[in-house]
Amino acid sequence: MIKRISYLGLGTMGSGMASNLLKAGYKLTVWNRNAEKCEPFARKGARAAQTPADAVRDVDLIMYSLSNDQAVEEVVFGAKGILSGSKESQIAIDMSTVLPATSLRELEEYAKRGVDFLDAPVFGSKSESVQAKLWIMAAGNKAIFEKVKPVLEHLGQTVHYFGKTGNAAAMKLVGNLIVALELEALSEGLVLAQKAGLDLNTVMEVVNVADFRSPLLVSNGQNILKRDFSPSFALKLMLKDAGLIEKFGEELQSPMPGLRVIKKNLASAVALGFGKENASAVIKALEKESGVEVKA
Ligand code: NAP
Repeated sequence: MIKRISYLGLGTMGSGMASNLLKAGYKLTVWNRNAEKCEPFARKGARAAQTPADAVRDVDLIMYSLSNDQAVEEVVFGAKGILSGSKESQIAIDMSTVLPATSLRELEEYAKRGVDFLDAPVFGSKSESVQAKLWIMAAGNKAIFEKVKPVLEHLGQTVHYFGKTGNAAAMKLVGNLIVALELEALSEGLVLAQKAGLDLNTVMEVVNVADFRSPLLVSNGQNILKRDFSPSFALKLMLKDAGLIEKFGEELQSPMPGLRVIKKNLASAVALGFGKENASAVIKALEKESGVEVKA
C-alpha cells in the first residue's frame, strides 16, 4: 500500500499534482530546483528536501514532472539525483513529456537498483492539474500499474494503460502532434477571419458549435480574442514537444509535413520573444507576417 510519496518538479503541472496528493492524505516530500516553490507545500505539512537523492529517501513512490529530457537527465541520473538515493522495492513514475527512448533508459537504470518504473505523461493543462482532472496515460509492468492506479486516480479524471514502457510517452507525442496542428489551424483560421473582416466573436461562436469544435480550439480562441496569453502550457514547451515529435516520427519514418510547418511558426514566435507565453501565442508569428492583430 502506497503511503509516502515524493514529488519532484513543482512547475505548472507538478504543483497541482503535488497539492492533490497532499489533499488525498499521502505523506508528501517535495523537491524543486528553485527551492522557493517548496515553501507553500512545507507550510501544508510536506517535507521539503534539499536534493533529489534526499527527496526519495524513505518513500514508497517517486513521481516527477520536469520540463524536458535534459531536466530528467540531471534530476534522475545526475549527482545527488533520484537514482543515487533510490532503493529496492520503490516505484518511480515519470510524468514529464519526454522521448520514449528516455523512458526505456529510465526503466533500465532503475531496474539495476531494484526500482520499478512507469512512464505516465498527462494531457490537460494548469487547470486540469489543479482540479485533479488530468487525462493520464501509463505504461510499464501491469502489476505495478495496478498498484499505483489509485494514486493516479487522485490526479486525473481518466487513467489509460498502454502496455510496455515508452508507449505512454509515445501516446503523449501522438496527442501533442494533434494539439500542435489544432493550434496551427486555429491561428491560420483566425488570421484569415480577421483579414476577411468577419466579426471574431461570431467566428468563435461558430467554432464552439460546428462539427469541427474542440475544447482546445474554443478555450485558446477565446483567450486569443481577449489577448490573454498567460501560460498554461508555455510556447517554448510546445516547441520542445514539436522537436520530440519530429525526432520520434523520423525514427519511425512516419510522415509529418504539417508538424514541420507549426514547428517553424513556434520557433519564429519564440525568436520574437514569446517563449514564456501560452502556446497559443504562436499566432503572433502569423500576425507579424500578415500585419494584422487578431482581437475581438
Ligand atoms: P514548468 O512550469 O516549466 O515546470 C518545469 C519544472 O521542471 C520546474 O519544476 C522546473 O524547475 C523543473 N526543471 C526544469 N529544468 C530543470 C533542470 N535542469 N533541473 C531540475 N529541474 C528542472 O513546466 P510544466 O508546464 O509544469 O511542464 C512539466 C512537464 O509536463 C513538461 O514535460 C511538459 O511538456 C509537460 N506537460 C505540460 C503541460 C502544460 O499544459 N503545462 C501539459 C501536459 C504535459 P524550476 O522551478 O526550478 O525552474
